[in-house]
Amino acid sequence: MMRLDKFLANSGIGTRKEVKKYLKKNLVSVNDEIVKKADMHINPEQDVITFEDIPISYEPVVYLMMNKPAGFISATEDDEHETVIDLVPEYMHLDLFPVGRLDKDTEGLILLTNDGKFSHKIMSPKQKVPKLYYVELEGTIRDDAVEIFKAGIDLSDFTSSPSELEIIENDYESIAHVTIYEGKFHQVKRMFHSIGCEVTYLKRLKIGNLELDEDLPVGEYRHLTDEDFHKLN
Ligand code: URA
Repeated sequence: MMRLDKFLANSGIGTRKEVKKYLKKNLVSVNDEIVKKADMHINPEQDVITFEDIPISYEPVVYLMMNKPAGFISATEDDEHETVIDLVPEYMHLDLFPVGRLDKDTEGLILLTNDGKFSHKIMSPKQKVPKLYYVELEGTIRDDAVEIFKAGIDLSDFTSSPSELEIIENDYESIAHVTIYEGKFHQVKRMFHSIGCEVTYLKRLKIGNLELDEDLPVGEYRHLTDEDFHKLN
């Protein structure tokens, strides 16, 4: 069960305020009866709700964070491999898609939604949303790597924005944190390759200020909370 005004707003009819106006103007019916009460409780799967005599189909928006496992493709469909969407069968009917892409072998924070505007806002290059990665590497990280990452790296198809590199361990196998501001194909791997290191393990930890929930086992997901949304803005 849910409130009628919430149902109408979620269906894209208008804001809650606009919806209240439509209710006052007798534009909404529930099971053939004109309804004015915004707080009426309805069952979206059973009741027939109309706006200006046209039935409204129930297509709620969904926002999930997933701890992506390696071995899954960040796409809605793939002929050969399983996708991150295959891990969410309960929402199969709601046409979820991943917000941006992680490589098949990359793990960690990925958002899934069916809200195109939300996805666009996070992905838009103009927004320059920071993304933090944990990186394991083969090779020693050169002394001037932090400055090289800070200056931006020419990767032939584009030059990365100034990015922050934090070296955690530096040996023949090394560990680092890196924050990038785009999400180009193999970006982190290519940036490290350009300084002579190969990425052996990659995990995304953060998008904007939203951190991967540490309680989320690999392959699991949960709904975003109001607090999570604030961290993305
Ligand atoms: N950079 C990469 O190289 N791979 C990812 O999956 C994400 C960022």
